[in-house]
Amino acid sequence: MNDGAASSGRMSTPSTAAPVARLIEAFHRLPGIGPKSAQRLTYHLLRAPEAEARALAQALVELKEKIRLCSVCQNVTDVDPCVICSDPQRDRSLICVVEEPLDILALERTHGYRGLYHVLHGAISPVDGIGPEELKMNELVARLRDGSVREVILATNPNLEGEATAMYIGRLLSSMEVRVTRLARGLPVGADIEYADDITLARALENRQEV
Ligand code: ZN
Repeated sequence: MNDGAASSGRMSTPSTAAPVARLIEAFHRLPGIGPKSAQRLTYHLLRAPEAEARALAQALVELKEKIRLCSVCQNVTDVDPCVICSDPQRDRSLICVVEEPLDILALERTHGYRGLYHVLHGAISPVDGIGPEELKMNELVARLRDGSVREVILATNPNLEGEATAMYIGRLLSSMEVRVTRLARGLPVGADIEYADDITLARALENRQEV
């Protein structure tokens, strides 16, 4: 018996109806959901009014059907360009480069940044076979061509992959007429931007340094 079968054995028994077992499995595959939570969520929905379960199913379908990447910043969006890129109040001469869409939420929570963003959708990681080609690097360079951007802030995570990615972009942009800065040290090493507290993140943004 392989691991998957062994763990599903703990979540449901052969007497568990197949649709119930399937949903428990699906919940269990989500990040942060253990077997107990997967069971609880499934039985909650089983007892919930039909409309509630249908609304959840509909939200999942729409998530995949309607969400795409902003053609400017590559953030996930249902309108293109996204609400940040099309906001006339934002400073278009500033681009903050992040690894994941969730990092934008963290930075927006600080209320300390009024520029635009660029989402790489990952970080350079040779071990996982992720090189610059797998990331939205060309899209970033394309945004700098018209010379209207005066600063690129590298807000990749303060870990090995994030630092390697920041160094790569620093080199990539060194021949271009743009200031390149990196979030200040002070973010806990190894901690993702996504989980940094607002004050630490706002300070790291404020005290950013020349690359
Ligand atoms: Zn956008």
